[in-house]
Amino acid sequence: MAQSCKICHHPERQAIEAAINGGETLVSIAKRFDVRPMNLSRHKTAHMAPLARIQARRGKEKPAASVDRLEQMYDDARVLLDEALATNRPQLSLAAMKELRQVVELLGKFTGELNDRPQVQVNLLASPDWHRVREVVFQVLQRYPGATEELSSRLLELEPR
Ligand SMILES: [Zn+2]
Repeated sequence: MAQSCKICHHPERQAIEAAINGGETLVSIAKRFDVRPMNLSRHKTAHMAPLARIQARRGKEKPAASVDRLEQMYDDARVLLDEALATNRPQLSLAAMKELRQVVELLGKFTGELNDRPQVQVNLLASPDWHRVREVVFQVLQRYPGATEELSSRLLELEPR
């Protein structure tokens, strides 16, 4: 936490974050808690856990079928990844990538079982979407050699043979 962040050290931080999660405008929240919108904006981008925002969004949704839920997880992981890339957090990028990989694997297994065609997993891994995500992640991870190597070898295990 940045020491200079007024929101992190605000006694009503939880209420402020709940208001942000609830979709109230930053200007309105700023007035209510006597803080500056700039501080709210910075705190929201840099310090609020993406997972909390995802959970807040999810809480309002109805239960879905397994594949729908997996696709929702995939979307969530993509949100996490975007967030991690936007805020330059390699740890979170890796976590999001692991999540994405697991979801893709699960989706592959699931649809493969349903269709009795195991090559569905291969098709998923060959999808343009997956390749685009992987490219972005590698671009960013190039700055973190250890992470790049681990991710690279793990991904190779998933490649179609
Ligand atoms: Zn903060």
